[in-house]
Amino acid sequence: MNEDLTAQGKCLFCNAMFPQKQIGIHLKKHLALQEKSESAQHTKKFSHILIDSGLMFLHVLINDYSKMELLDSFLRDIWMDCCGHMSGFFTKTSEISMNQRIKDVFPDKEKIFYEYDFGTTTQVNLKVLRHYDINMKDHLTLLSRNEPLELVCTECEKEYALHICSVCSYDEYVYLCKKCAKKHEKICEDFKDYASMPVVNSPRMGDCGYTGGVIDTERDGTFQKK
Ligand SMILES: [Zn+2]
Ligand SMILES: [Zn+2]
Ligand SMILES: [Zn+2]
Ligand SMILES: [Zn+2]
Repeated sequence: MNEDLTAQGKCLFCNAMFPQKQIGIHLKKHLALQEKSESAQHTKKFSHILIDSGLMFLHVLINDYSKMELLDSFLRDIWMDCCGHMSGFFTKTSEISMNQRIKDVFPDKEKIFYEYDFGTTTQVNLKVLRHYDINMKDHLTLLSRNEPLELVCTECEKEYALHICSVCSYDEYVYLCKKCAKKHEKICEDFKDYASMPVVNSPRMGDCGYTGGVIDTERDGTFQKK
């Protein structure tokens, strides 16, 4: 990826944009305020969880009584699923059952990670930021997510990238704009055949047959100049 690349995310509550490092603290303010204003008999226990991989991140609020399989299916929908591979949550030493409840997994302070596809594996990190007694309608709410990264074509270094060559990206990512993709076709037979993959807003970009998520699709795909 381009070295000076940064990520930012929009706040679900007020629509303001914040850098990756600050959005978590900002969301905490909204959640704490809401928690304070709530009458106790209507609240349930929720956890604010950060899922990330480099510049890509998801802030979610999830009901503590939900099972890990809810997080699994969410991650599949937004970031991972190409052809129904296996997946799992892990601590350093063991696998976490999909039937475990959020509340029994996350208080440990242990680092948790998620793997999708045990062949061409995509791995992301999870950690709990805080627990809340709060009233939320949904069991899982996406609070923020990194906006599409400003990935520039690695050939011309001018245009924004639309494609990635999954074969040539073995050592270093090869991002291509429309024009340079046409040129790449001529020198890379694989690209023409199967290795041309779309730039998507997911850590699974370029892996296996991944072409994008099925939820929150307006923030998937390539960076768009406003
Ligand atoms: Zn906000
Ligand atoms: Zn696949
Ligand atoms: Zn280009
Ligand atoms: Zn190639």
